[in-house]
Amino acid sequence: MLPPRAAAPYNDPMRKRIIFLVLVAAALILTVFVVRQARQREQWARVDRFYPFVPSPHVSPRPFWTNIDCVVVHATAGTRFDSAVTIFQSPKSRVSAHYIVGKDGRVVQMVSIGMQSWHAGSSSLDGAPRVNVYSVGIEMVNRNDGIDPYPDVQYKAVAGIIRRLRTVCDIPASRIVSHAQIALPKGRKSDPRGFDFAKLRRLCGKV
Ligand SMILES: [Zn+2]
Repeated sequence: MLPPRAAAPYNDPMRKRIIFLVLVAAALILTVFVVRQARQREQWARVDRFYPFVPSPHVSPRPFWTNIDCVVVHATAGTRFDSAVTIFQSPKSRVSAHYIVGKDGRVVQMVSIGMQSWHAGSSSLDGAPRVNVYSVGIEMVNRNDGIDPYPDVQYKAVAGIIRRLRTVCDIPASRIVSHAQIALPKGRKSDPRGFDFAKLRRLCGKV
């Protein structure tokens, strides 16, 4: 009598059970991730409703798995709030930011938090490229000559935006950065020249 043949691997019931359990675990992990990301987007939408909204056409979707954990602060290199809004609306400019903050503390939002605004350009932070993908961009009206002052009310308005963002995103103080810090190649951007980041971080509170 011949000895019984070993079961073919694909017929092994234990192996089938393990494959089934692995697939179930993967489906569960994926479901939890999808639900978490959907909730995250609902939370982002909540902070969209606070400031007057003037939409810019220069937006891109954020990848589904995005975690927003960075704020990039800019200066407009101009003097007028309305001009900055107009530039971000102009079809030719191909630039935008989530927020513009005037010297009088006025704030307008131009891009929803759930979308990328086009503020960083070629960029990298801590080795991660394409900073637009995972950041929020804030433009401050300022000539960016290092002399034009940033009034207290403007600092407070920027800090107010960041505190609000922190209710729905985890943004450490070390990731509140200047455009100059992230722009590639190094030296491509200088803004916001003369801005006191230590003061901004103090106004934002701990984290
Ligand atoms: Zn900039």
